[in-house]
Amino acid sequence: MQKQSYYTEKEIKQTDAYLKKIIQNGYQKPSEDDIKLIRKAFEVAREAHAPQRRKSGEAYIFHPLAVAEIVAEEIGLGATSIAAALLHDTIEDTDITVDFLRREFGEKIAEIVNGLTKIKRMPKEQDISLQAENFRKLILTLSADVRVVLIKIADRLHNMRTMDSMPRHKQEKIASETLYIYAPLAHRLGLYKIKTELEDLSLRYIDPEAYFDIKKKLAETRAEREAYIKKFTNIVKKGLIEHGYKFEIFGRPKSIYSIYRKMKRKNVEFDEIYDIFAIRVIYEAPPEMEKEIAWGIFSVITDYFNYNNQRIRDWIRNPRSTGYQALHVTVLGPENKWVEVQIRSERMNEIAEKGYAAHYKYKQGKDETKELGIEKWINQLQDILSNPQSNALDFIDDIRLDLYSEEIHVFTPKGDVISLPKGATVLDFAFHIHTEVGMHTRAAEVNGRIVPLNYVLNSGDVVKILTSAQQHPRHSWLNIAITGRARSKIRTFLRQQENNITDLGKEILTRKLRTLKLKLNEQTINQLQKYFKLKNSRELFYKIGSGQITNTDLKSFANAQNNPFKKILSWGKKEKPKEKNPKQHTARDEEVNYDMIVFGSEEQRLEYTLANCCNPLPGDDIFGFVTINEGIKVHKKTCPNAIYLQSHYAHRIIPAIWIDSTKQKFKVFLKISGPDRPGIVADITKIISIDLKIPLEHVEFNYFNGIFDGKIGVRLENTVQLKDLMFNLKQIEGVDKVEKL
Ligand code: MN
Repeated sequence: MQKQSYYTEKEIKQTDAYLKKIIQNGYQKPSEDDIKLIRKAFEVAREAHAPQRRKSGEAYIFHPLAVAEIVAEEIGLGATSIAAALLHDTIEDTDITVDFLRREFGEKIAEIVNGLTKIKRMPKEQDISLQAENFRKLILTLSADVRVVLIKIADRLHNMRTMDSMPRHKQEKIASETLYIYAPLAHRLGLYKIKTELEDLSLRYIDPEAYFDIKKKLAETRAEREAYIKKFTNIVKKGLIEHGYKFEIFGRPKSIYSIYRKMKRKNVEFDEIYDIFAIRVIYEAPPEMEKEIAWGIFSVITDYFNYNNQRIRDWIRNPRSTGYQALHVTVLGPENKWVEVQIRSERMNEIAEKGYAAHYKYKQGKDETKELGIEKWINQLQDILSNPQSNALDFIDDIRLDLYSEEIHVFTPKGDVISLPKGATVLDFAFHIHTEVGMHTRAAEVNGRIVPLNYVLNSGDVVKILTSAQQHPRHSWLNIAITGRARSKIRTFLRQQENNITDLGKEILTRKLRTLKLKLNEQTINQLQKYFKLKNSRELFYKIGSGQITNTDLKSFANAQNNPFKKILSWGKKEKPKEKNPKQHTARDEEVNYDMIVFGSEEQRLEYTLANCCNPLPGDDIFGFVTINEGIKVHKKTCPNAIYLQSHYAHRIIPAIWIDSTKQKFKVFLKISGPDRPGIVADITKIISIDLKIPLEHVEFNYFNGIFDGKIGVRLENTVQLKDLMFNLKQIEGVDKVEKL
């Protein structure tokens, strides 16, 4: 208690009174235990922060108190959050530890405060990717416990309200970060009032000139505006009272930031913005009458004023995913001015202002069966976060899109409502339904008509997704999908696919180099990169894995290295066994020149030695045996040891055959189809013969009813090359299907 002497008598009294006020004015009614908990948190925080003062000279404890006040009154959270808010800076700024909090206040509060501590201030440099990483951390904690982020928003709001005593450059930095991250978060969590305040405060520090200019003009036009609002509401009021509605009606100017944004977006002056305010009607209603009364009020208002059919927003029937509900309508008011009217019940208004907390309260109270939008959204975030992709910038862009977008509501064929951000496409819808559906989306039916993947959905659309097992995400899909969920799934798939090819390439290279008597080490890799003019080893592995760098290419590399084993390599060629065993080969093609052994059903080329016991000759029936120390040994099937090996070590036997390496490539026919478009054939042949350098042996295209159907013959070295070819063909716009015949 010694530290208490850091405070003046007056400060002790002030802080006591402040706490009392917080407990009394909180949105939720605290129990006796709640009050005890809050008081204890306050005592601990006040003592711990005792030596600290804020930049303004004020005792530091006023900051946690103010944050707790916002948490209790403006966000409307309960005792746990209020206590956590009081303690939110203790781990970072005082001697208090997580363990101490865990002992004194339990796991939950310790966890929340710890989560808040982890979200460190943004780094000094305006490095966007670091900010992004921080944002990612923030969202990660959000998915752990949404209260962490709610308290963080309260913390930020208080810091923004009290930023005057900070140096200019810090103000700008904090303000831009607020606008970039915290305002969208508040928006998405349904804290519209706090979001608006955060935006206005940010603008004040980012563009003070514009901010104060708009503020001044709002003040100048105030009398005029209020007179107009009065004129409007007086007319409506009379009618509403006659119909027996209990309500409040008032006009509110839009926020400075929203006016600023509109001026910027439309490139207009302040005077040219007509919808500078909105009329709000907040009515009393028993829960079962809410909807009816909203439409009753609508009908009264539109008795007096004409309305714009295109601008009715029924958020009552289809709440936003934040839980926001209201009926919005734009009417032609006095003096032929368009006026937006927002009709909300008291409950809806509470949700609009308090977001999460209010929704939670009503949900518990009324056993609402509808899933809470916020929880759904958090689940989606968790989904995105659980993906192995690690690029924080991609991540933040994806999330930010989701945060700010207005929503549309579309329907599944069964009539379920799906909320998506404005601008969402068929592809976003598919990924929203299920990842597996998204992955295999071929096209969709919207209101009974077939549409392509990039079709932008409108509210009210009925969407049915058409899938195909052959379909997979392509790079071009990233230009189509706008939701974080879809984009992150597509990215993960593409990256995974690339990784598989890269891993395969590394494996192939290791093997090939061994055959070429070269070691796979950094030096060799560097030489390879230089030789093939590649940026990094990943690209090298990828090109080998996808067959763009062939065995022949690697051989010429080995030769170019002029290494001491060059002779051995060329020796291999010269010493090709020419003579055949006439007895065994008469039945086979006499032209065949068996000079190489391949293994397994995929006819892989692996390193091997010929077994001494039977000394197989080209063309003999053979098999491979995987030895412990000497790699693969090739035996004749008639070898005296064969039966013993096959019966005792069946799992170590690999099928093997002699082949003619000059004819080793296998011929493949591919069937390609899709909607016809100009230039598609040129695109296909270019990919094959120019990009992938595969000679075309057969080309045939047919057209029917706007669909093309092609048959293409190529000679390939291995199945990897085939997979790569098919993958690349599928990337071509308009190619729907690629099949091996
Ligand atoms: Mn703080």
